[in-house]
Amino acid sequence: MRLYSTGSSPDRTDFRTAVKRGLAPDGGLFLPERLPQPAPSFWSEMKGTCIKDKAHRVFDLLLEDDFSSEQRHEIVERAFTFDAPLVTLDDRTRILELFHGPTLAFKDFGARTMAAILSVLAAEQGEKITIVTATSGDTGAAVAHGFHKAPGVEVFILYPGGQVSPLQEKQFTTLGDNITALEVEGTFDDCQRLVKACFSDESIRSQKQLTTANSINIARLLPQMIYYIHAVVEIQPAGRELLPILCSVPSGNFGNLTAGLLARNMGLPVSRFVAATNINHVVPDYLEDGSFQSKPSIRTISNAMDVGNPSNFDRMLDMYDHDHKKMAGDIKGAWFDDEKTGRAIRDVWQRHRYLMDPHTAVGYLGYLEHRTPEDHGLILATAHPAKFPETINKLVPGALDTPDKLTRLAGKEKKSLPVPADIRAVKERLLGS
Ligand SMILES: *Cc1c(COP(=O)(O)O)cnc(C)c1O
Repeated sequence: MRLYSTGSSPDRTDFRTAVKRGLAPDGGLFLPERLPQPAPSFWSEMKGTCIKDKAHRVFDLLLEDDFSSEQRHEIVERAFTFDAPLVTLDDRTRILELFHGPTLAFKDFGARTMAAILSVLAAEQGEKITIVTATSGDTGAAVAHGFHKAPGVEVFILYPGGQVSPLQEKQFTTLGDNITALEVEGTFDDCQRLVKACFSDESIRSQKQLTTANSINIARLLPQMIYYIHAVVEIQPAGRELLPILCSVPSGNFGNLTAGLLARNMGLPVSRFVAATNINHVVPDYLEDGSFQSKPSIRTISNAMDVGNPSNFDRMLDMYDHDHKKMAGDIKGAWFDDEKTGRAIRDVWQRHRYLMDPHTAVGYLGYLEHRTPEDHGLILATAHPAKFPETINKLVPGALDTPDKLTRLAGKEKKSLPVPADIRAVKERLLGS
């Protein structure tokens, strides 16, 4: 796979380099120059296989020139270790549950795949790769679990002490092994500044091969294509031409939706996407009138989507040649406040005995707003409701079942190294290991 940058440079980059770099040298984001165009039978023949089998077939196509077949096999086997079940809400509506990974959110797919790819690269070059990343919560959890025990990769997670929820903190401070949690005496902004300082520090760079686990990394988007493929193939009615599906995607930084666009560009039958957001609705606004205005983010109960300047929007613009009309034809915007979101959680519980988390509820509402009687639709469920006990217990008391994974976590011991918000202290920790 060759990649171009959404920035101004005409240079092309190979997949390995793009994964190790994250951002293109011109500051743009990487996108595949060309995607394979399999025949329609490629999709229909996969029906009935599990998500991992589909990942093998699609990664074989996408990464044919980049990795040996053994390497591709290893990447998929390491990354796709949990299922993405489809739940039927009604005849025409399915929910795709993406929260059965270790941190109970869809980001596990991206983090595990990126870790698997970096392990293959580390083995090949016989040199350790060091990940340094800042987190205010969820990213750290997905990264820590995704990279835990990944051969040849060590991970440093910087987080603001006392400023993440205790449960989130446990998700990235209890693993040990190759995962080191640095509890910074400062804010999330300090953590981000310190990560940047590591990357510009010559003495660190000369001793460590540094990479970020950034959410804009192209390695995160590929596995997210797979679950769209899995779901859209599996919900096809038997024995007829491929039926285009309406996909509603609860969105913040729009990585998830961008992955859906990539899958569609490979020929996956998707009729339209719904870009569903909370009151941080800069993309629905753009879809409405063609003007984009980033805004400071506002806190909501679907907090992983509190994004006022979505990092993947440039990718979307580029994929539509900056043509607003073209994009607005394929992607429908919708946004909802916390009150509507809460009401949807309660309604769906009462009507279907199905419990949605606040992010999924936003996707559900977006689906209702845009589906027509002809549509067959898919709603992406991005997190397990048990990740948001305060909100859920208030809305539907007694409905929540906490998965064992979370209960066990609460009993584990936190292991973090306190550091002052100072690059010298962070450097000592990095180089001292
Ligand atoms: C990150 C996240 C989202 C938003 O996904 P993007 O790819 O950033 O649009 C939605 N729901 C949950 C639970 C998330 O963690």
